[in-house]
Amino acid sequence: MAFPWVTVGTIRLTSPWADSGFARMGPSHPGPNPMRIPSAHYDPCETHADYDGLVICSFCKFVVGVSKFSSNYAVLGELGRFPIEHRIMVSHILYWLRLENEDQGSLLKSAFTECKESKHDFYSSILFNLSYLGLSNLIQSPHAYKESYVKSAVSTRLKDQYLQSFRQKLGSFKTLETCKGHNVYERSGYLDIVNNVKLRNVFTRLRINNNKLLAYSHSDKVNCEKCDVLENTEHMLFHCKRDCLVKERERFISQVSKLVPSYHTKGTEAKIKLLLDIDTKDEDLIKIICHHVNTMYSLRFMRT
Ligand SMILES: [Zn+2]
Repeated sequence: MAFPWVTVGTIRLTSPWADSGFARMGPSHPGPNPMRIPSAHYDPCETHADYDGLVICSFCKFVVGVSKFSSNYAVLGELGRFPIEHRIMVSHILYWLRLENEDQGSLLKSAFTECKESKHDFYSSILFNLSYLGLSNLIQSPHAYKESYVKSAVSTRLKDQYLQSFRQKLGSFKTLETCKGHNVYERSGYLDIVNNVKLRNVFTRLRINNNKLLAYSHSDKVNCEKCDVLENTEHMLFHCKRDCLVKERERFISQVSKLVPSYHTKGTEAKIKLLLDIDTKDEDLIKIICHHVNTMYSLRFMRT
């Protein structure tokens, strides 16, 4: 995975942790560097490898109870948040606009003029970012636009581009894709429905592929020992032939069918959505689902 940010005058090394972020933090971390120009492969979420976004993202992972190595995209998607770098970039551009509109003759204006003529990193990065966001018109005539318009335009473009990347990434998280869909980017409802932190963490880990199932391990062994097929979330919840899982699944079906008579006719995707999205107001159903999903995950790793 190519690391997308190109520091002015410097090309950073490729990092395999660009999406998991945390591994880059350490004694040798360069710290925040606002003077950056995104490369042609600019990807707003990847900027989390930088210190500011990394800290925020790590806190988000702590809040939802997942590993520091889990995907930034997936965690921010669960919370419906955008990268903190968006705010930083908007602030930079608004400050540039202020400098452009500064009265001639002031010390600040003189310094800015010098900055432009010498193609200082700050000025170059602003021009690059505006061009990249398709807002070159701002560069041509910065005096013609109000601050509120610029703020809105830049924020909207950043969000649009981020959502485009997010939807592409969803393909790597089939469970999350099924639960979240492609047209929704908001805080996931189950986070507010399931109050028990331990239960909620299991849901999150199953949704974003950050759990102990073999499909998401870093070993070559990804098939279920019992069934000899890929052991992912779907397999564990609906297909695995381990005796304990089969019994729990049968118990759940008989229980849930009283509240959702059509459950047994639903397809796998609809079942995943019901079990891991919990998009219902029925408290009895929520309790039954929570208990079942957590029991299945516990039984999977219970020593027999
Ligand atoms: Zn199995």
